[in-house]
Amino acid sequence: MRMDALSRFRPLAGALQRFVLPYRCLLCGAAGEDGLDLCRDCATELPRNRTCCARCALPMPQPAALCGQCQRRAPPWDAAWVPFRYAWPLDRLESRFKFAADLAAGRALSSLWLREPPPSQMPAWIVPVPLHLRRLRSRGYNQALELAKPLADRLGIALAADALRRLRHTAAQTELGALERRRNVRAAFAVNPRTIWPAHVALLDDVMTTGATLAECARVLKRAGVQRVDVWALARAPSTRN
Ligand SMILES: [Zn+2]
Ligand SMILES: [Zn+2]
Repeated sequence: MRMDALSRFRPLAGALQRFVLPYRCLLCGAAGEDGLDLCRDCATELPRNRTCCARCALPMPQPAALCGQCQRRAPPWDAAWVPFRYAWPLDRLESRFKFAADLAAGRALSSLWLREPPPSQMPAWIVPVPLHLRRLRSRGYNQALELAKPLADRLGIALAADALRRLRHTAAQTELGALERRRNVRAAFAVNPRTIWPAHVALLDDVMTTGATLAECARVLKRAGVQRVDVWALARAPSTRN
């Protein structure tokens, strides 16, 4: 059977699989809750990022408008929506999604994100942080794009998957300190010259740590004429920007 003919049966196969195999919690194996591969208890246990800096979403012990970092030097984006903290058990789902090609974990993460209170002002576009072609080939998918698809769909926002490009293959940020992270992503991104940008977009990534990648992308978008750039990430790691 040719590939395109085969792909036509895939939605049906998915529905059949759901009929035979009901939703199961990816973390504990209990029955999943209304259309989610997580049980109610595990979903409740995921660490929410409710008390955080309004500008960079850094977790804070008490509510405050801005963290010390943002008071000293504002980041190049305008607002952040980062509903979770990068901690147990969310980190388990995220690493299965990102490093073990577990796309069911990715779908569960998108669904959980969509259940969190949305920002008051919605962007015209969602722009997922792009991967370099080399990493895209080795991983097989862009985790930011996979998270962005259901959000764009359900929130009714255009998904601009090809408007921003990664020019350089950069070392994985995980092993680097804050300063090295900034250097590592410098001049790594460019806009697609054919893009006509709206006034307000949201950059979307999976995990935000120092924000170096998002900052670099935000600068590129501002230079291209975007007036307001928000950053959306699933989870915030507690690291500061320096
Ligand atoms: Zn569970
Ligand atoms: Zn901040």
